[in-house]
Amino acid sequence: MPGAIPDEVLDDIRERVDIVELASEYLSLKKTGDNFKALCPFHTEKTASFVISRKKQIFHCFGCGVGGNVYSLIMKMEGLDFPEAVERLAKRCGVSLPTSSRVDRFREELYRINAFAQDFYSQNLRTKEGQSVLKYLQERGLNKESISSFTLGYAPSGWTNLLNLAISKGFKIEEIERAGLIIKKEQSGSSPGIGDYYDRFRERLIFPICDIQGQVVGFGGRILKEGEPKYLNSPETPIYNKGQILYGLNLAKTAIREAGRAIIVEGYMDVILCHQYGFINTVGVCGTALTEGQIRLLRRYTQEAILIYDPDPAGMKAVLRGMDLLNEEGFNVKIVELIQGSDPADFLKRRGVDDFKRSLDSSEGLFEYRLGKALEKADLSSPEEKAKVVEEVIPTIVKTKDQIQVHIFIKRLAEKLHLAEEVILSEVRSRRRGVKEGEGLREHLKSKEKGIIECERDLVRLMLLDEDIRKETLKEVDEEEFQDGLSQKVIQLLKNFALRQEGLEVKRIIDLLEEEGKAVISSLILEERAKEERMKLVRAYLLRMRENRLNKGIRDLKEKIAVAEKTKDKELGLLLNQYQRLVKEVRFLKQGA
Ligand SMILES: [Zn+2]
Repeated sequence: MPGAIPDEVLDDIRERVDIVELASEYLSLKKTGDNFKALCPFHTEKTASFVISRKKQIFHCFGCGVGGNVYSLIMKMEGLDFPEAVERLAKRCGVSLPTSSRVDRFREELYRINAFAQDFYSQNLRTKEGQSVLKYLQERGLNKESISSFTLGYAPSGWTNLLNLAISKGFKIEEIERAGLIIKKEQSGSSPGIGDYYDRFRERLIFPICDIQGQVVGFGGRILKEGEPKYLNSPETPIYNKGQILYGLNLAKTAIREAGRAIIVEGYMDVILCHQYGFINTVGVCGTALTEGQIRLLRRYTQEAILIYDPDPAGMKAVLRGMDLLNEEGFNVKIVELIQGSDPADFLKRRGVDDFKRSLDSSEGLFEYRLGKALEKADLSSPEEKAKVVEEVIPTIVKTKDQIQVHIFIKRLAEKLHLAEEVILSEVRSRRRGVKEGEGLREHLKSKEKGIIECERDLVRLMLLDEDIRKETLKEVDEEEFQDGLSQKVIQLLKNFALRQEGLEVKRIIDLLEEEGKAVISSLILEERAKEERMKLVRAYLLRMRENRLNKGIRDLKEKIAVAEKTKDKELGLLLNQYQRLVKEVRFLKQGA
């Protein structure tokens, strides 16, 4: 949500950037009537359902439901948060932002130190000491382009190289420490000076770790001689959260979107060599098990992932967990298991691109993979062992959303275990019920209110489209009369605009809504329908809402009356009066309609 950036500035930028122009940099647009259409970049489709309106300066995809204004569009395309999107568009149209509203200065300082350190490390590759490191990189198969596009570097031997240089460049000790580049000695006193610190990275090959925009947020350091640990990483800082970063994503994001899938590998070298051999849609988890944060990041670009990993049993559990997470998040997951003891980097170097491609093509789906693993160790003559196999793979079936796939999995499992399909099917069903007990009820309740919510949203739509309707209707309704949270919010916003006597524009309203709200409102506005007799519809909607509310009141009263009758409550008379009044009101409403 907009923070410290003043509304006038946001408006100014929004006025200057044309959404059609912006979109045309990413998509090939076709003009249809007043609008433009394109194939949606956020889901796979064959006919265009991504609509952009120049007049209203908003977009919406009628296939997957995303939508919004220029800010939302660039956020989605580039994976930016709101302040970042504002900065990007401000630069683009030449609006200068007030400095205080730039992304937190504190963070800015961390970026600056990291950029300085990255520069220092890469300079060191060109020193005499750095020659052996370059040689090592060449032996591992890296070419010059890879070394420079991943800005690899070297932290020299010695305890204070980076520290001294940073201080001489005017950085403060606390800042360098906060960035995780130096470490305080254990026996240092209460007011430590330069002498109490030493460099975190020494005699290590350095992999700068970048966020999506390519800003350095941390470092990974690999030891080159004997010693422990083999890999050393920056600690977490305000700009570096390990679970929210995928190594190489800044370079891979466009290729991932174009390829429609991401390749996920484990190590830094794996990522770099995959890129070098043309598999630019590769990212690395580098030292963590795949997290939900990383998956959400990836989902901005694709919903398909191929995991490649070295099948060492120690890391197995984490890999399986990661695959399950991807599956649960709706990803189509495939797995490639390379021959024992070889990682993608080695594999590419020894076997070449074609063999690597073949491995990708022969990747297995999550279910097949788990089934294979479970069968490897099972003795199928024993019923207990069969049950174990079912136990291993059934969670994957239960969590798979595509029903055709579920059917195929059940069939496969039944065949392999010589069981009747019905047995497995009923097991899947009963587990589903277990998972969804709460959800089912909620869904049911929702469907009951759906009619009224649709009616409320259509009313909101008419209010957004037509100034007269807006003015008239605002006089008559309060946000409390709406059941739909989004409609309430929009009505509230409309009131505020009216109070300040400002002109209203839908694209401004959109900035003030959450993700789901943006999508709903943009779709309501762009939906093409025949011209309605608008005022008449509004009347009908208002009536319907009022009737709905009265009926609810009547139901509540009935319950209270029943209780009061049993307990012989003195209130009974009063309640009955109220009841009569409501019933009369409903009758009156219906006659008027
Ligand atoms: Zn879409």
